Amino acid sequence: QAKSLGRGRYVFFDDSMREKIIASMTLEQELRQAIKSKQFELHYQKISDLTSTKTLGFEVLLRWQHPTKGLLTPSEFLFMAEETGMILDIETWVIEEVCLQLKLWKKSKEYEHAYIGVNLSGRHLIQANQLTKLMGLISINTVEPERLILEFNESAFARHTELALKGLRKLKEFGVKLALDDYGAGLSSFNFLHNYPFEFIKLDRSFIRSLNNNDKNLSLVKALHELGTKFGYRLVAEGIESEAMLQKLQTVGCEFGQGYHISRPAKIVQAKSASNVVAMHRAQQSL
Ligand code: C2E
Ligand code: MG
Ligand code: MG
Ligand code: MG
Repeated sequence: QAKSLGRGRYVFFDDSMREKIIASMTLEQELRQAIKSKQFELHYQKISDLTSTKTLGFEVLLRWQHPTKGLLTPSEFLFMAEETGMILDIETWVIEEVCLQLKLWKKSKEYEHAYIGVNLSGRHLIQANQLTKLMGLISINTVEPERLILEFNESAFARHTELALKGLRKLKEFGVKLALDDYGAGLSSFNFLHNYPFEFIKLDRSFIRSLNNNDKNLSLVKALHELGTKFGYRLVAEGIESEAMLQKLQTVGCEFGQGYHISRPAKIVQAKSASNVVAMHRAQQSL
């Protein structure tokens, strides 16, 4: 049979390609199983007011407790969830969980007024019926949609800009808060800044990291802060990793921030009594 393949001109798959395809199929199956058997968990990272150091709220970050590989971060599976559309099922679960957490916090003193930021796939905005489903889901699970900050990044409206913007406006009208995530990471444009329905703009980590290098970068962040503020946005700096970075951001007046220096993402440990909910943010607990 090998002979009939001649000099191998008709062999399409070499071993490494075969391995990749198998890995990808395995990931897809495992992800399906993960949804069924609820292998996901949420890690919460604090978002602080940089001047008062008060807590604005938390961003929830998806984690997958994989049966053999251990705890996985989104970079290891999110692409597959997006590609297959499974992300919509996963995020349904995320929103249910987050709404439950809001209810618990409502009864606590410490986080009674906390917001929760949820990263969402752009599919919610552009896929038929998804937006209605999303708003329905939120309505069923909470009476306070304004405690939710839905975070989208620019890829969410790269292709179907008008449709996505329309969706965002509907969400705003509905009552949730919106954040533009990872601003400045890609080819961020100034064009849309004047008519985005976002309340928050989250400055990408790469910006904040560059603050270490030289003062020009600080000018850039300062300019972005001024521009953003003029347009009515509230700025959140991502990835604050050191006291020096924090101080620089405070100098330029950046309002909110998050990062390992402030608090690492961590699971919330629920106390037995709902009125005594404690968030565990152990410094040594990474990702
Ligand atoms: P993101 O929304 O920009 O979230 C912030 C990411 O930065 C998180 O990565 C967080 O762990 C990390 N981070 C926070 N502080 C620091 C810091 O000081 N230094 C550094 N180097 N990193 C820091 P993570 O958890 O791996 O998530 C990656 C991305 O996956 C998120 O980026 C978000 O866009 C996406 N993601 C997470 N959960 C979900 C979800 O439920 N749905 C969707 N669609 N996307 C999600
Ligand atoms: Mg985010
Ligand atoms: Mg995000
Ligand atoms: Mg981000």
